[in-house]
Amino acid sequence: MTQPNHPADMTRLTWPEVVAALAAGTTTAIVVLGAQEQHGAHLPLATDSLWGEHLAAMLADRLGNALVAPVVPVGFSPEHMRFPGTISLRPETLAAILEDYVASLERHGFRRIVVLPSHGGNFAPLVDMLPSLRERHPALQIVAYTDLSGLVEAAAEVAESCGVTPNEAGAHAGEWETSMVLALEPTAVHPERGEAGYLGPLAPVFDLINREGMEAVTPNGILGDPAKARAKHGHVYLARMADLLAEHVRTGSG
Ligand SMILES: [Zn+2]
Repeated sequence: MTQPNHPADMTRLTWPEVVAALAAGTTTAIVVLGAQEQHGAHLPLATDSLWGEHLAAMLADRLGNALVAPVVPVGFSPEHMRFPGTISLRPETLAAILEDYVASLERHGFRRIVVLPSHGGNFAPLVDMLPSLRERHPALQIVAYTDLSGLVEAAAEVAESCGVTPNEAGAHAGEWETSMVLALEPTAVHPERGEAGYLGPLAPVFDLINREGMEAVTPNGILGDPAKARAKHGHVYLARMADLLAEHVRTGSG
């Protein structure tokens, strides 16, 4: 799952290499909040962690002064718990993990922490934990990407440019995510098991999903349709998201 030999991957560095990176001005660390949750019958449970880690490496390339911390591989996924293999942390557990990451990174000299949720369910808990996290670390710049709708809109634009409707691209295990995993780790995809899920608009069913779980809207756990997924689309999605995130971090808007 780890990006092979990416120079920004902190898990593959030695500690003196981290010292050298910090001394050379690489003082930003990117922390991905991933997930272990169902992604239909055709994508692996670690899908969000997998593409999140690659996206973070692409963001590090664009920033030029960042390392990628170990991905937090499990997130807040109660809406997927009907599907075996899903693991969900309580929001306070997730907050405690992020706090410990940040405290460790700050102690060694990182000055800016970029928090990147690669799973939609992690966005709301992240928003809730930010004020106290920033209060405990006033010397750090903590940049969190919390604009889920901005990400979804960017993906919808990419989808349309690829001849895919936004509803097919989908918010979960549809063409969007399937294309990204095809681009990054094709052997992890089982296209023959892919099937269409819920294809209506997301806004009207968002509350229902949060209240009763994904199965209330989509028995197969999919929002979208992976049928038109292609690796080449996946590369476009990832590049677009990396550009969007780099812009967000550079403007330092929070
Ligand atoms: Zn996902």
